[in-house]
Amino acid sequence: MNPIESNVSVDETSWSNWKWQLKNRIKTAEQLSEWIHPVQDEFDAIVATKHLFRWQITPYYASLMDPNNPECPIRKQVVPKMSEMEDDIDILALDPLEELAHSPVKNVVHNYRDRVAFCVASECAVYCRYCLRKRMVGDGEFAMNKAELQEGIDYIASQPEIRDVLLTGGDPLTLSDSNLEWIISRLHKIPHVDVIRIGSRYPVLNPFRITDELCEMLAKYHPVWLNTHFNHPNELTEDARVAVHRLVRAGVPVGNQTVLLKGINNDPEILKELFHKLITFRVRPYYLYQAQLIGGTRHFRTTIEEGMEIMEKLRGRISGYAIPQYVLDTPHGKVPLTPNAYRGREGDYVSVLAYGGETWREYNPKKTYQE
Ligand SMILES: *Cc1c(COP(=O)(O)O)cnc(C)c1O
Ligand code: SF4
Repeated sequence: MNPIESNVSVDETSWSNWKWQLKNRIKTAEQLSEWIHPVQDEFDAIVATKHLFRWQITPYYASLMDPNNPECPIRKQVVPKMSEMEDDIDILALDPLEELAHSPVKNVVHNYRDRVAFCVASECAVYCRYCLRKRMVGDGEFAMNKAELQEGIDYIASQPEIRDVLLTGGDPLTLSDSNLEWIISRLHKIPHVDVIRIGSRYPVLNPFRITDELCEMLAKYHPVWLNTHFNHPNELTEDARVAVHRLVRAGVPVGNQTVLLKGINNDPEILKELFHKLITFRVRPYYLYQAQLIGGTRHFRTTIEEGMEIMEKLRGRISGYAIPQYVLDTPHGKVPLTPNAYRGREGDYVSVLAYGGETWREYNPKKTYQE
């Protein structure tokens, strides 16, 4: 804990209570100033983003920020910059993966034959500035009531080819243990659902969410897997290690999905350290995502060629266990960004080969913001 002003004082028990962390989230520039010295651009952006995107930070995650350096990789993930407002928002699809077209019922994305993504919660602990679901997270319309959840479960029960259900959102761990159990126990009862997966950034943003009670509940419904989302070695704190340890001890294999983010982790040395440290936490790096085409995130996107070069620098330098697959999510599913799948660049577009044999053309201009 490292508040820069003495008016942030909290006892250890409250600090390590996940609900306290949620209740005391930073929502104004004044509150943020208790943790860091925001620069003018950040002050302006906090005001400007109010009308566009949600913004909240847990005190825990704020405590990891460098108070004096606006280039801090933690800070850049969660404190808005004016560049977020300068993106060519109109030309960018709000739903780049065509998730709505692939949703037979609300918030169930059935894109692959054997598995679905089920968006069971609309809220997150923190709103990351580069989020793929930036327009939806925290939105009431995206939230699910019990009847809608039941409809999703009924759909999954009616489709015998679905073997693997990925709970996502928003962040499913925003739900209470009992609401989560309500969903998981029902999915677990469906004979053809063999695996339940949870995608959650709580181990990174509010690790105190991973309580013994939560882990005991999850262990009743095995096999349950969890993928989390560390982007930078500075996020690998003792609190995060304890959270992951609890999950692993409860028999939940933990994987990690990193987003390749310009100015945060687009550096082979940083990623090497991140991925290596993750395996010391017993977290298996699963995917490295190409930053998606979504309004308000242009300043974070790298070129696909840069990502491929970074991957080339990891191979042979760290354990195979520590190397994720570099992928691009498309309406045809996730495409590995390997020399095999890469079909070349034409101007601002890169062609890649998807798993069904289709070619996908991704808008990925070389010239991005700040260049
Ligand atoms: C990512 C994703 C999955 C899970 O894919 P894996 O590659 O198996 O991790 C399932 N459904 C949708 C819609 C997805 O986007
Ligand atoms: S936790 Fe995940 S879904 Fe939520 S804002 Fe961050 S990246 Fe988006």
